[in-house]
Amino acid sequence: MTAVIDAIEVQVFDTETRSIRDTKGHRHPGPLASAQEALVTIRDSDGAVGRVLTPTRNVREDAVAGPLFGALIGKPVLSVEAVLRDLVIAQRGNPVDLADRRIAVVDELLWDLIGQRSGEPVWRLLGGAQPRIRAYASTMCGDDTPGGLSTPEEYADYARTLVAQGYSAIKLHTWFPPLDFAPSVARDIEACVAVREAVGDGIDLMLDGFHWYSRSDALKIGRAIQDLDFRWFEEPMDEVSISSYRWLSEQLEIPVIGPEIISGGICLAVTGYASVPSTFCALGHRTRADSRQR
Ligand SMILES: [Mg+2]
Repeated sequence: MTAVIDAIEVQVFDTETRSIRDTKGHRHPGPLASAQEALVTIRDSDGAVGRVLTPTRNVREDAVAGPLFGALIGKPVLSVEAVLRDLVIAQRGNPVDLADRRIAVVDELLWDLIGQRSGEPVWRLLGGAQPRIRAYASTMCGDDTPGGLSTPEEYADYARTLVAQGYSAIKLHTWFPPLDFAPSVARDIEACVAVREAVGDGIDLMLDGFHWYSRSDALKIGRAIQDLDFRWFEEPMDEVSISSYRWLSEQLEIPVIGPEIISGGICLAVTGYASVPSTFCALGHRTRADSRQR
């Protein structure tokens, strides 16, 4: 008999973190502090279990009892694509409880459950063409802490450390408000120059800096990092302006990456909005992305 989803439980637990958010929501290193995370467990009618760790905000109590998980009970475990399609359609009328990052929790839960049931890793269930994937190091946003990421030289020093650890690709997140010297086109370019000089030509570099540059400022940075042979230029302008991204992509050879955070962005990303697919893995939604690509 086809296994169906039987129960979903959320356990909120106390943990510790050295990560803090500034007033604009960007994360930085900080002192050790208490925090909470959520462990979500899904069970099927055969007793198999899948699990996902997620920030507590993704699984608020009302969402668990309601639209995010409520409609899953009784659905066949293997109907992951149908489940995701229904959630995405329901998102139109309930974009808060069914935000992309919450729907991604369901996607991950179902794939973990399917993997646990089969005894195979999910990458093999998806076709097994990639037994290994290449990882890139990603810095936190720039700061004003001496010894942190407060100057182009400190980015260069940290990049050298990452290369020494074995990374062959590095993504830079540069400076954002509320730092009083951010945003800065010149400083962003200086950091990119410093890092390229520090690591040499054999390392892939990417930039994911301030997200609200004007078209002309974004073009200036894009041309600079194109000359530095960066691999891509990520989310340099407001994502709601698709025409701006299309325009920038036409001005540059370097891939312009987006969107990352706008609702429904994954559909744009896989239908040719920018030069190459977006960072959709950050949002989960593997199923949705794949189904749109077919
Ligand atoms: Mg990004």
